[in-house]
Amino acid sequence: MPRNHIANTAVRSVSGQTLPVIDPADGQTYETIERSNAADIDNAVRAARECLDQTWGQFTAAERGRLLMKLSAKVAEHADELAAIEQRDCGKPTRQAKTDALALVRYFEFYAGAGDKLHGDTIPYLNGYSVLTWYEPHGVTGHVIPWNYPMQIFGRSVGGALAAGNVCVVKPSEDACLSLIRVAELAAEVGFPPGAINVVTGYGHEVGDALVRHPGIDHISFTGSPRVGTLIQQVAAERHCPVTLELGGKGPQIIFADADIEAALPFIINGIVQNAGQTCSAGSRLLVQRGFYEQVLERVGKAFSALRAGPPKLDLDLGPLIRKTQLERVHGFLEEARSAGIATVAQGSIVAEAPDTGFYAAATLLRDVPMEHRIAQEEVFGPVLSAMSFDDEDQAVEMANGTNFGLVAGVWTQDGARQFRMARRVRAGQVFINNYGAGGGVELPFGGTKASGYGREKGFEALYGFTTLKTVAIRHG
Ligand code: NAD
Repeated sequence: MPRNHIANTAVRSVSGQTLPVIDPADGQTYETIERSNAADIDNAVRAARECLDQTWGQFTAAERGRLLMKLSAKVAEHADELAAIEQRDCGKPTRQAKTDALALVRYFEFYAGAGDKLHGDTIPYLNGYSVLTWYEPHGVTGHVIPWNYPMQIFGRSVGGALAAGNVCVVKPSEDACLSLIRVAELAAEVGFPPGAINVVTGYGHEVGDALVRHPGIDHISFTGSPRVGTLIQQVAAERHCPVTLELGGKGPQIIFADADIEAALPFIINGIVQNAGQTCSAGSRLLVQRGFYEQVLERVGKAFSALRAGPPKLDLDLGPLIRKTQLERVHGFLEEARSAGIATVAQGSIVAEAPDTGFYAAATLLRDVPMEHRIAQEEVFGPVLSAMSFDDEDQAVEMANGTNFGLVAGVWTQDGARQFRMARRVRAGQVFINNYGAGGGVELPFGGTKASGYGREKGFEALYGFTTLKTVAIRHG
């Protein structure tokens, strides 16, 4: 039975209560996790602080890097095991689960080599002075992680924080935490000192809330919904705790009439089908220049009709959604769209092997979706692509920017000048030109504008968020 991981020890929750772990493939309970509360967070924060004061805080950046490199290698050795754990926990098709395990390997590898390259500056100032800056870790960092990519988000968030010299208390989603408990065990095996990485499971409103309220937490990295992101900002504001927020998205794929549709097609499909559409950076809106619209819909529609959802082990295009309420949410959006007269162009299938008790949704392509409709504005977080047409570049920009989100956008055009103009005019943390990186790119700074959040994770840039800059002015005459 997976326990909390505190100070390199598997521990029960203080309350002794547990929560069920449900397999999304068949809706059955197959495991339990600890239902932790504020007392468990207190224990984890205490262990983390002790580690920072006594061991981790004494390590050089190079020593931290070496341990992260060992962890990367250990995760690589256990990649199949970790992929299998996360596959069952989240319902991911085999290829996706393996991709996620290998991304974790790469995150640790990237940050292993990054921490000792975080240089400060020297600043010309008054005569007789020397001024320098250096980056210091925040201290004990809190990491609240969602269910859609547990390993990947752990890698980018905890990897960056550790490399920068912090110690971590992690609160995974109550819907998907098993792979992260195992990663923490592997970290202990390769020599991470007790308290460097702690994982405490349970409900967000209980243990997540306790984490962000804890006065011993010096920085919060939150990845999740805009609703909870707002709550966390309010709580953190009370005690002036810095926060990085990675929230949702409503990614536009903008297809101009000169685009190479054959090249775009796999990116359009994968951008919304990957992880059954449960991806913050999913390309969930298809904006196509009028005149090219019908042709594109025909090609994308044909591809959608061939998409199959089914049990994760069959490794089809889509696995199940994470839980029953998520499936009901997706169906609710689709019913609302249909009753508003929005037409379905094509729908994929759910294979016969999929148990009725599992949470499967068929991939669905909708057309002529009005920009103001809820399905064009809010995250469905399922395999639903909303197509709409635009006349010219100005209208494309207006539509691309016409939601509260601004995370990732894709632009498809052969016109070089337009590529640059669009990259500048679209409000998003990442703009992909003639490609689309739903969730990808360990090296690429990632984060949002507007309701998609603020701060950046991934890439070298993340290290700045996990540190605070100190300026030292020396008057030596
Ligand atoms: P969620 O906001 O419901 O939960 C995220 C995490 O927050 C979970 O661990 C949950 O237990 C915890 N939580 C819930 N209430 C809390 C509270 N009051 N205090 C502290 N923690 C609390 O999101 P979800 O349903 O797990 O994930 C889906 C959402 O995450 C989507 O909106 C998606 O776009 C977003 N997401 C964003 C990114 C990104 O990098 N921008 C990546 C993945 C997912």
